[in-house]
Amino acid sequence: MTETPAMSADSALIHAGTQRGRGEPVVPPPALTSIFASWGEPADGYGRGGNPTWAAVERAIGALEQAEAVIFSSGQAASMALMLALAAGRDRIVLPRDGYYNARVLADRLRPHGAEPVLADLQDLSEVERELSRGPAVLWAETPTNPLLRVADLAALGRLAAAASAPMIVDNTVATGLLQQPLELGAVASLCSLTKSASGHSDLIMGAVMTRDPELLAGLREWRSLGGGIAGPAEAWLALRGLKTLPLRIERQSATALAIAQYLAGHPRVSAVHYPGTNERTLAVAQAQMPRGFGPLLSFELAGDAADADAVVGAARLIVPATSFGGAESTWERRGRWPGESAPATLIRLSAGLEPAADLIADIAQSLA
Ligand code: PLP
Repeated sequence: MTETPAMSADSALIHAGTQRGRGEPVVPPPALTSIFASWGEPADGYGRGGNPTWAAVERAIGALEQAEAVIFSSGQAASMALMLALAAGRDRIVLPRDGYYNARVLADRLRPHGAEPVLADLQDLSEVERELSRGPAVLWAETPTNPLLRVADLAALGRLAAAASAPMIVDNTVATGLLQQPLELGAVASLCSLTKSASGHSDLIMGAVMTRDPELLAGLREWRSLGGGIAGPAEAWLALRGLKTLPLRIERQSATALAIAQYLAGHPRVSAVHYPGTNERTLAVAQAQMPRGFGPLLSFELAGDAADADAVVGAARLIVPATSFGGAESTWERRGRWPGESAPATLIRLSAGLEPAADLIADIAQSLA
């Protein structure tokens, strides 16, 4: 068995999942087993505690952020473990008003376990500072946000969190560790729904938390094992395969999303475009903390009403009317159709896939027409 040598994160995505030895499969099959031969001490004998295919995914995704990773059955299972691990003994959890709505719903349901959810505008640093100063808190940041793609200044938020002794976690799902490194900017943990760009093929649901904090790591593993929110080995194997092409996919998708955002900004039916790469107000922060691109996700608002937006989504011939993002196929949806989502009524969220930008822009043009 040879140890994996030091390498860039892009190479680690391809190689860190496998430990190479003579005669070993270059692409190991998924470890489809619930039990492992064990005697004496029971460590590692049962598949709810560990699996070699999960470990491979954790090495690959962890390498992106020079951290240890813990994978879960979904991004939400990862969020739940993180909230339970961090919220106990803290009075409040400060969340973005415009972030992923199920984080707000989850924090609300977990209120009896410790922290009270408080919503803040993460672009308003004095509001965040005020909320953090009112007792022991967790700062749950998200940038760019889903679905408004608002950019928050992570270094500034990290300083506020440190001053208040509040752990900052960042939902890094939209950017992934390839485009943005929250742990370098003051976060104790970075959360990623691997369902999205990280695995990239719309064929599995999985989540991960990356951290360099040994105590938090142990807590996350314990919550995973006790709560049972574990990934299946087959899904883990697919995630490992998807991760290998993350840099290629996300670079192409970022370029396509930028071209689409620029096209939409000049369209007479479009009243607003939301994309980190075209928002002048936050562009400098976005460029500083996302140096490799701004990702596949953008959103835009139509002049008109919800029915107009539904008609546009339904008129597409190439873009798939569906939720989620980061897949090979472009998808879009009127975001406000989800109960609990606070997005503007005509907001359409679009995930740029791997199709050529010209094909997508032609499809958007005919859908808007
Ligand atoms: N965080 C963000 C920003 C998301 O968009 C999502 C899913 O849409 C999640 C977390 C939850 O991930 P999952 O669907 O894998 O549970």
